[in-house]
Amino acid sequence: MKTIPLAVPDLTGNEARYLQECITSTFVSSVGPFVDRFEAMVALASGARGAVAVSSGTCGLHAALVAVGVESGDLVIVPSLTFIASANAVAHCGALPWLLDVDPATWNLDPEWLRHTLERETVVGADGQVRHRASGRRVAAVMPVFTLGLPADMGAIVAVVRARGRIAVVVDGAAALGASHLGQPVAALGAELTVFSFNGNKTVTCGGGGAVVGQDPALVARVRHLTTTARLGAGYDHDQVGFNYRMTNLQAAVGCAQMERLAEFLAAKRRIRATYDQAFADLADRVAPFPDPGESVGTCWFSGFVHQGAADPVEVERLRNRLQAEGIDARPFWKPIHLQKPYRNAPQTLQPVSERLWWRVVTLPCATGLPPEDQQRVIFAARQALQA
Ligand SMILES: *Cc1c(COP(=O)(O)O)cnc(C)c1O
Repeated sequence: MKTIPLAVPDLTGNEARYLQECITSTFVSSVGPFVDRFEAMVALASGARGAVAVSSGTCGLHAALVAVGVESGDLVIVPSLTFIASANAVAHCGALPWLLDVDPATWNLDPEWLRHTLERETVVGADGQVRHRASGRRVAAVMPVFTLGLPADMGAIVAVVRARGRIAVVVDGAAALGASHLGQPVAALGAELTVFSFNGNKTVTCGGGGAVVGQDPALVARVRHLTTTARLGAGYDHDQVGFNYRMTNLQAAVGCAQMERLAEFLAAKRRIRATYDQAFADLADRVAPFPDPGESVGTCWFSGFVHQGAADPVEVERLRNRLQAEGIDARPFWKPIHLQKPYRNAPQTLQPVSERLWWRVVTLPCATGLPPEDQQRVIFAARQALQA
């Protein structure tokens, strides 16, 4: 019996043709027509004025934080329920993540919790700089994460941040390309910079890759400068410590072919999510769907269910193992950052939501090319396991 995978890329479009063009033209490195074309496509799809293609989402987050002025010793507010890369990007700046709990309705930063935390735990200087009361560290930025591609309530988050003082907003929108909030595309929601990932398991992939998008041309230019060794002109003059974070033309060739099918891939992801949600609707006493608040249109990067009825993590693990044994690639979800070894001592708020939630989440096969009969097999097996 073949295993139904969690996610596999669909590379049946122009990927091979564009890669062959790279080889034939010898433009395989970080300069090339596909990089420019990919940046234009990503900017258009996200509603941004500018885009910089980079080698991964993590690199993009790091460069974006440096570009908005995050420095060694600063704090950056990050939701604890995220992939470890969000926190690592902060640590790569020499800064520390300040880990906040999430909103149970969205699995994203809770604007009210953010406001409460800033008001209670920070002081604001005459220069507008916000400092963490307990440690004296500067709070340089907030990084909302658009969990599973669902936009956070950015109107409220940006208003809270601006009301408090000089704090930058950089969005980890790794899986959110193609999402919108109150009709606005992701790059137009008020953040200085928004970062996407094109890793192999994302809806659109370059094999590996990322992009940083923004509305301020000067800031986007600063990101481009930082990610290309901070080089001045064509000679070997560099005006700061930059990074080699550029995407190659090979990666961008795959990315362009993928972007041509963005609408199709998003429709498939949303159809798969809706099919699971309907199939488990009558088990509402045991399972809850992934969040879908009305004001946002997410990308449904992953699908699955929350095992509300489970008494402990062992019960959820047993259910996952049972599905795995039946050839269904059911997986766990992100373990919150405050429970991870490198960040146990990072500043953090209480985490009632993330601690109740993360181990109950089961993700199910959701490749854009998932055949309907395979999804029915997943549904049948999951229902049996839930009712066992
Ligand atoms: C995928 C992902 C990243 C990291 O992207 P890479 O391209 O793998 O470096 C960061 N944050 C979140 C929320 C992600 O899902």
